[in-house]
Amino acid sequence: MHQITKSNNLFEEAQNYIPGGVNSPVRAFKAVGGNPIFIKKAKGAFIYDEDGNEYIELINSWGPMILGHANEKIEEAVHEAVKGSLSFGAPTAKEIEMAKTICEMVPSIEKVRMVNSGTEATMSAVRLARGYTGRSKVIKFEGCYHGHGDSFLIAAGSGAITLGEPNSPGVTKGTARDTITVPFNDINKVHEAVMANKDNVAAVIIEPVAGNMGCILPNQGYLEALRKICDSEGIVLIFDEVMTGFRLSKAGAQGVFNVQPDLTTLGKIIGGGMPVGAYGGKKEIMDFVAPVGPVYQAGTLSGNPVAMAAGHAMLNEITSDESLYSDLALITAKLENGIQAGLDELGLPYTINRIGSMISLFFTSEKVTDFEGAKKCDLKLFGQYFREMLKRGVYLPPSQFESWFISKSITPALADRIIEASNESLKAIH
Ligand code: PMP
Repeated sequence: MHQITKSNNLFEEAQNYIPGGVNSPVRAFKAVGGNPIFIKKAKGAFIYDEDGNEYIELINSWGPMILGHANEKIEEAVHEAVKGSLSFGAPTAKEIEMAKTICEMVPSIEKVRMVNSGTEATMSAVRLARGYTGRSKVIKFEGCYHGHGDSFLIAAGSGAITLGEPNSPGVTKGTARDTITVPFNDINKVHEAVMANKDNVAAVIIEPVAGNMGCILPNQGYLEALRKICDSEGIVLIFDEVMTGFRLSKAGAQGVFNVQPDLTTLGKIIGGGMPVGAYGGKKEIMDFVAPVGPVYQAGTLSGNPVAMAAGHAMLNEITSDESLYSDLALITAKLENGIQAGLDELGLPYTINRIGSMISLFFTSEKVTDFEGAKKCDLKLFGQYFREMLKRGVYLPPSQFESWFISKSITPALADRIIEASNESLKAIH
């Protein structure tokens, strides 16, 4: 029997001191029902809660732990860095190594600035695009999530939609007016929005593969078409690769789809589990950032030596593993096929979207290509499935509007265990 007594007690106590008991909303399991489990430790493919239950990890800190937990090389690098003090607030050689590695891995990035989160990266990139173009409007896509900066909490995915607040109170009307939202995968709507705001759109920001309304792929030719519109209208194209960066390939989604943005935002994997983000791109645009340029952006802890050590060790691990992305794709395809077979057997309505090691199971028989499609899924059924999987020792993201993240630590035998748990869970909710 799956006991979570300690987690339940901790959750009760946490709510007295922390809003909702959590430091990031989706962690509260509000959309799927039940109480969150409190984590004690993790290693490789496994995560352990305070009650001593073991789960196979399919969240992986929402993406960063692509190699699995407590990777030895990354931990060694951190231990070494800690010995030299936790922070200087001054330049270090490690930051150059980090920047050079990023520029080598992601060819569209000629210069890069380190920050402390994905949110900071996207906020800074949009400010830079505005400063560079002298324009004010930003086009974003319904269901895409770019962190919790004011400009992005409009038709936002991830926790915002999970909690039913895609437009957050607290964002001023003025800010909201400068964000134009259009549906994902509909190029005509982008065209219309650009024409209706001619010479006033600073940036188009997109998750090139959306992960924050579940995993949704761009239609064929869609990213190319965006590139074309941005080129002809002098708009800065920003790929938010906080999730897809170093996950879909060494050069992220842009490496897979072969479309080069002007700016890229990064986070998650780039920190190896430490709080790190980055934004980078064309030299000409990046040189608008202070202190060379007029657009201000700063950070007391930016380029932190411990975070850089972790991130750099992670990127080294990725570059030295020739078969990482093909292995990840293979194991995720195995999961996809196994889960699909179970759904087919029971005749349940479903759609599975997958690319590489990002995968989402949607409880709908219709194709899911945009936010409207994602919202039509049977959320109640997803919640039931989630809870059944948890009981069987599989830790899925507690929301239909999140991608699952598969790590290198998932072996074929573990994939079989996940498939078995899925089959049993589906039977239980059928
Ligand atoms: N952009 C994307 C695409 C994301 O998925 C996220 C976080 N899930 C963010 C930005 C924000 O990153 P952070 O949570 O590190 O602020």
